[in-house]
Amino acid sequence: MSTRIWLSPPHMSGREEKYIREAFATNWIAPLGPNVDEFERSLSQYLDGSHVAALCTGTAAIHLALILLGVTRGDEVIAPDFTFTATVNPIVYQGAIPVFIDSEMYTWNIDPELMELAIIDRIKHHKKPKAIIFVDIYGMPAQIDAYSEISLKYEIPLIEDAAEALGSKYKRGHCGTFGEVGTLSFNGNKIITTSGGGALVSKNPEYANRARFLASQAKENTLHFEHKQLGYNYRLSNVLAGIGRGQMEVIVERVAAHRFNNQRYRELLSDIPGLVFQSEPDDSFFSNFWLTAAILNKPGDVFNARSVIRALGEDNIDSRPLMKPMHMQEVFRNFPSYLNGNAEHLFNNGICLPSGSNLSEEDFERIVGRIRSK
Ligand SMILES: *Cc1c(COP(=O)(O)O)cnc(C)c1O
Repeated sequence: MSTRIWLSPPHMSGREEKYIREAFATNWIAPLGPNVDEFERSLSQYLDGSHVAALCTGTAAIHLALILLGVTRGDEVIAPDFTFTATVNPIVYQGAIPVFIDSEMYTWNIDPELMELAIIDRIKHHKKPKAIIFVDIYGMPAQIDAYSEISLKYEIPLIEDAAEALGSKYKRGHCGTFGEVGTLSFNGNKIITTSGGGALVSKNPEYANRARFLASQAKENTLHFEHKQLGYNYRLSNVLAGIGRGQMEVIVERVAAHRFNNQRYRELLSDIPGLVFQSEPDDSFFSNFWLTAAILNKPGDVFNARSVIRALGEDNIDSRPLMKPMHMQEVFRNFPSYLNGNAEHLFNNGICLPSGSNLSEEDFERIVGRIRSK
């Protein structure tokens, strides 16, 4: 069988091991140390001077973001219906209630009009949401200005889950830097990776400092162990931060490679009827195109997203349906949702194509040949 083409595999630059060796040589085998500091510094520099706390996962970053904004038991939090479960799980860890909002079809992210309708409806029922968490799905920036207006008007703080969107931009700002707090992921499949890792980002240094404090068991600055609040063990290992330092040295190339992949698919598949790629609506939106995603919009045809995914799988090529909406997940079935059918449509008709930054021209030929053979 031919070698497997993965959806979004790790792509090392060769510079990572030097920093890992440094960690061993200096015995900084701990969730703090020079690699953690330097990784935070390089992220901060890349993100226009925002303050960064390196953490063990993106999920941990979202959990701390909610805690920093005061989300507690019984609070409601606005969240996307069309996302990965890690956006929503930490809301439930806090004993809070996610309120799912469906997508618009320009960026596939939360529909701002539906979001405002939902907020008005929640307020009418005396349940004003405590926070809004939005996602830049597959790297595509959301309609952030519209969210900011709603956030100001109703005085509800924004969290940007930019786990998939490091390197994406909205207008002149980097994704991850919008809202009160932003979050990133460096899981093995993301645009850069530390194998597992994440970060909390904020323009407000207090949030990054508080995140570091809470992520280190909320240990007070005393010789004995003094704790005034509930803490977490969420810091990033200094060994893994070494991988992150090496990856940050090639972030520009990685984003360029993902954007090249997206362009290449558009060229190679332009004549396929009913194939619609997730696209930048105008030049306010700059996607890292972490994954190239599309819908195959010809219902009833034998040539549909599921049949293409199956055909690719038969040749050892990894592809996937789009996100299964949160309101359709057993685990979240009792939470409120405001729907327009778009997320469900995306799930039923969409496909994520192999999008690694190390895809070769032969890989493209194999993938496109398979799709055409359907
Ligand atoms: C990957 C991902 C996360 C979680 O990140 P981890 O580092 O895997 O915990 C959160 N939200 C979205 C949208 C993601 O894709």
